[in-house]
Amino acid sequence: MRGAEPPQKVDIHEPTAVALGYVERASQVDRKKYPQFVPGSSCENCMQLQGKPGSDYRPCSLFAGRLVSVSGWCTGGRGNVIAAAVHRERAAKASLTRTPTAGKSVKKPSIPRDR
Ligand code: SF4
Repeated sequence: MRGAEPPQKVDIHEPTAVALGYVERASQVDRKKYPQFVPGSSCENCMQLQGKPGSDYRPCSLFAGRLVSVSGWCTGGRGNVIAAAVHRERAAKASLTRTPTAGKSVKKPSIPRDR
């Protein structure tokens, strides 16, 4: 008796993968086509990724029964939303540490002279 076939990797050229902009390496994301991409986001930090850590390819709930690269990325991942939220939070904290006049010339207030 023959066992079940192992899960296949998602082909980046298949219609669903193309529609979701799936790539095997997040560094390959077309940043002009997908401006929502946040550096640091990948399948590995996506809520849709399943299976156990330690494998280069793991199941993804959007590609049932098949495997995606943990270094990959697509537009369907909630991890991307989380990564974006973390990015915005860091940017907001960084802006709080800057002075509002940094890099600009500021006119000193005039002080009236005594007569
Ligand atoms: S849904 Fe998440 S885990 Fe699945 S391919 Fe897209 S980014 Fe990767």
